[in-house]
Amino acid sequence: MSSQTIKEVDAVVLGAGFAGLYMLHQLRSKGFSTIVYEAGDGVGGVWYWNRYPGARCDIESIYYNYTFSKELYEEWTWTSRFPEQAEILRYLNYVADRFQLRSDIQFNTRVTAAHFDEKRHKWMIHLNDGQYILTRYFITGIGCLSAANVPNIQGLQQFNGKWYHTGHWPHEKVDFTGKRVGIIGTGSSGIQAIPVIAKEAEQLTVFQRTPQYTIPARNHAYEEDFIKETKKNFEAIKRSMRNSVSGTPFAQNQQSAMEEPDDKRQAVFEKAWAQGGFAFSATYHDLLTNEQSNEKAAEFIRSKIRQIVKDPVVAEKLCPKYMYGTKRQVLDSDYFETYNRENVLLVDVKESPIQKITGEGIQTADNHFDLEIIIFATGYDGMTGPLFKIDIRGRNGVSLKEKWKDGAAVQTYLGLTTAGFPNLFMITGPESPSVLVNMPIAIEQHVEWIAECMHYLREHDIDLVEPTIEAEEAWSTHCRDVANATLYVKGDSWYTGANIEGKPRSFLIYLGGFDYYTKHCNEVAQNNYVGFKLMKLKSIS
Ligand code: NAP
Repeated sequence: MSSQTIKEVDAVVLGAGFAGLYMLHQLRSKGFSTIVYEAGDGVGGVWYWNRYPGARCDIESIYYNYTFSKELYEEWTWTSRFPEQAEILRYLNYVADRFQLRSDIQFNTRVTAAHFDEKRHKWMIHLNDGQYILTRYFITGIGCLSAANVPNIQGLQQFNGKWYHTGHWPHEKVDFTGKRVGIIGTGSSGIQAIPVIAKEAEQLTVFQRTPQYTIPARNHAYEEDFIKETKKNFEAIKRSMRNSVSGTPFAQNQQSAMEEPDDKRQAVFEKAWAQGGFAFSATYHDLLTNEQSNEKAAEFIRSKIRQIVKDPVVAEKLCPKYMYGTKRQVLDSDYFETYNRENVLLVDVKESPIQKITGEGIQTADNHFDLEIIIFATGYDGMTGPLFKIDIRGRNGVSLKEKWKDGAAVQTYLGLTTAGFPNLFMITGPESPSVLVNMPIAIEQHVEWIAECMHYLREHDIDLVEPTIEAEEAWSTHCRDVANATLYVKGDSWYTGANIEGKPRSFLIYLGGFDYYTKHCNEVAQNNYVGFKLMKLKSIS
């Protein structure tokens, strides 16, 4: 390392998705030299990798985009309510070109390690091509769901057919025509893919471990007038999203589901079901805090499944029994209807577990399924997974993995920073509102806060920023207290880490509301970054 000339920048950003692109734009505008490293050969992050059939957004497109530029909002026109992956990827490419971001993004480059050098007071970034780069600030924009989980099922290497994970889908089209296809997993990815693949494949076998509460998306093309009106109301929409609980401009009904007479509640649920999208989860305020209210929502969805799916045995297998919403709410397009097709078979792997993958398919406890293609829609090692894939080491050579005890003892301040790792910022990191908020809006708030913080430090000749142990302990305790007051923590999901064998159970999403969170972050900044140690090198050495 010593013989090499080491390039130096003010900031290194990981990932060229929604987070990395906007971080680069912000830092450039504030005069920080910045380089973004991206493992893929294009921008897009999650929308670059998730090219599986049926992949689309489940937040309405007019809200699932950047709001930092009025001009950008006016220039870009979404075709439909829930556009497909390709359209979102086009949008992010447009953004990269519009703001001339590509010149500071190095593609096809993985950061393997980032070590805080205590002599230089800077981060040494190690790249997969053997290069190093020195930076004052190290910022991760790698998302919460980028570490794919391919379950360790015996025999996968022997499989004679092709297999894919939804999160690492090939760029070229996978042709299912005339093929016997198996898909493992019925989360958001599986539920989007299943109806589309079923239309093409000769036979689709769905290996389901846990059924899902899913609501019709009711996608539709946007009318020209609607788009015009939306663009006209940009400022109001932006304000409303940024001041909301969830980063969308919808107010939640403040009533309890239990306060409503049965017929009225039924009508409310019916209306939300017909409307599609996330309206259902906002019908009552206590669906995720009151078990009785939760069961009312759960039973409504079960009744819909029983109406749609013609075979009552299949319908029953598709009816979830756990609490509604403790796994992420899924939106679908003709998911339950797909089980009425003759070429679709549902296999309950709780009843008959997968034993192994053979050369010819999947062996369960009581059957062998001949397959030519296997799809793993088996999700991700969420929240900490993407960070743990990189060897991030702070003071005294301690890694993030060691500090957080493999995920058993995650502690952050505001979900943005962690003690012992100076000048490290995590965009939508653990213990921030992240995935339970409209992600682009959550990202914008983080990016702007980080950029402002860096600007403040520069203006005040401060070289290092690091939270105090006390501040992060208080924040983590607050996060846990808020989460423990909800039903989320009772579910087995990637939210709680229960989807990954051996992963310590913890709930790492801040549930206090995006509006409260933003206000709190702003107060921290206004109070000269209370909770942080602000260090000048002159006084350290
Ligand atoms: P997921 O929600 O974690 O679902 C994974 C599925 O695989 C579950 O059904 C799980 O069963 C099953 N599974 C995992 N390991 C298995 C095994 N060894 N044997 C059998 N089944 C197994 O993952 P995902 O569907 O990729 O979604 C992850 C998240 O990504 C979503 O919650 C969402 O936040 C995001 N996403 C969003 C969109 C969108 O529309 N915007 C689309 C896709 C994904 P269990 O439930 O029993 O664990």
